[in-house]
Amino acid sequence: MTSNAPEPTAVPADTSAPKTAIDAVVIGAGFSGIYMVHKLRELGLTVQAFEAGDGVGGTWFWNRYPGARCDVISIEYAYTFSPDLIEEWDWTERYPSQPEILRYLNFVADRLEVRPCFQFQTRVVSASFDDAAGQWLVTVDSGEVTRSKYLVTAVGCLSTSMTPDFPGLHGYAGEVYHTADWPSGGVDFSGKRVGVIGTGSSGVQVIPLVAEQAEHLTVFQRTPAFSLACGNRALSDQELRDFKDGIEEHKARSKASPTGQYTDTLAESALDHTPQERQAIYEDRWNRHRAIDLIACYPDLFANREANETIAEFFRSKIREVISDPDLAERLSPRTYPLGAKRITLDTNYYQTYNRDDVDLVSLREQPLETFTENGIQAGGVNHELDAVVLATGFDAITGPLLSMDIRGIGGRRLTDKWSDGPTTYLGIAVDEFPNMFMLTGPGSPNVLTNVVCAIEQHVEWTGDFIAELERRGASRVEPLAHESRNWTDDAAELAEATLYPEGDSWYTGANVPGKPRVIMSYVGGLDAYRRICDEVAADGYRGFAIA
Ligand code: NAP
Repeated sequence: MTSNAPEPTAVPADTSAPKTAIDAVVIGAGFSGIYMVHKLRELGLTVQAFEAGDGVGGTWFWNRYPGARCDVISIEYAYTFSPDLIEEWDWTERYPSQPEILRYLNFVADRLEVRPCFQFQTRVVSASFDDAAGQWLVTVDSGEVTRSKYLVTAVGCLSTSMTPDFPGLHGYAGEVYHTADWPSGGVDFSGKRVGVIGTGSSGVQVIPLVAEQAEHLTVFQRTPAFSLACGNRALSDQELRDFKDGIEEHKARSKASPTGQYTDTLAESALDHTPQERQAIYEDRWNRHRAIDLIACYPDLFANREANETIAEFFRSKIREVISDPDLAERLSPRTYPLGAKRITLDTNYYQTYNRDDVDLVSLREQPLETFTENGIQAGGVNHELDAVVLATGFDAITGPLLSMDIRGIGGRRLTDKWSDGPTTYLGIAVDEFPNMFMLTGPGSPNVLTNVVCAIEQHVEWTGDFIAELERRGASRVEPLAHESRNWTDDAAELAEATLYPEGDSWYTGANVPGKPRVIMSYVGGLDAYRRICDEVAADGYRGFAIA
């Protein structure tokens, strides 16, 4: 461990030149990267962090499309480790908009003074482990190479956008935008005929705002979403005060919950109640405008398809309340997967938008997208002329951001090869054959099935404590035992099989990316159980890791 010297140290591209190794490289300046850098500096380690964007924010830096808003309520979508950060920041809305989250992360970065550790507008292209030196060589897009003892990936789960290989897309002469890589200056759709492809969380948020501006909007929908009206509103001073005063109770409750979001799950099965009783319960929870209150209402909603159908039908009835045309309501109603197997979306005026005369829905299951033409999209034999197309087609999630870098472990072993059949990890944090590498919210951890800020805090703190212990012991090298990784991965897969996740073709399973191995990439056992397991591993001398 070197002394507390937070100044970044980068070394030139000539890898034969002597290098001053630093303690840790952190990749990414989102929620996890900011906190990890802070944590490592608290330990007195030298840190160099890299971020592709020209500022902090991670996925919230790039996803700046109109309507972008988080699906976790603001006061809960924030760090809890620092009483000062909690006290000094006031959210304005119940569901935070992308600009407000970005302001928050900038505030945190300034308050923790982590910015000098980051080199922005710098993308890590590869990282390879130098076995002899026991160090990582991290190469960025300028060719610069940095040597470090530890490599911490804080690359997020939803940061590699996915553009399907649509026939004819390159020959299309109109404007093309992806929600996950939106122009920083915004886009003016006034007077334009616009198409949106995709009706996941990004699509349902962007569609109403594009419709308000465009001359005409055509939505190309492959699979309808289960969407909950988010009922967004301003937060009062009193609500903020009450939350801050009750922060310790909030922390305890969220730590004890499987998703990091407390909800009052009933004891009975959904099937133990009469349809009338269920209706009253679902209605009450619908009005709370919080997805977790609905999907975790009964304990078996996500384990039993028949129970799930009761709430799926409740959501469909809400669509019929808004859409008067029965045929249109049916086309917008999800029928092919259980509620929750694709992420529930939160919207503002999503279904109402389809009642506008200047908005059309093309159902791609009935009218398949054949090709982009020079001036639009041809689907089901019909050419839709479009001046602009918005791709709300999502992400190569969880493993995508890791595999987009060329990461090589012992003997040049590529992570892409190791994970060719799906990711194998120990605790979702470490990979055998890749020593001294820690992944925050990696595959095999609870990551996206939680309020991810809670998962990030747990990961950063556990990893920070582990690194502190390694330094205390004077350890030079750490990696999980291969059989522990296998067991963790197999056990996690078995848990996932008992849920309804496998029944949805979603980014949770990799099914949205052609050719990607179909694996549930998150630990479904709950953040509370996961936290206990990680704590036991630590208490047992970091059981399952080989420490040299
Ligand atoms: P997504 O949920 O994966 O949705 C992508 C959409 O594009 C789906 O409707 C998908 O249809 C469609 N699509 C993909 N490939 C297609 C193709 N070849 N042809 C036609 N349609 C195609 O992605 P997302 O909406 O960007 O959201 C991803 C995740 O990001 C969310 O689940 C959420 O966790 C996070 N997010 C959160 C918020 C928020 O907090 N409110 C906002 C945005 C994103 P299929 O369903 O048929 O595949």
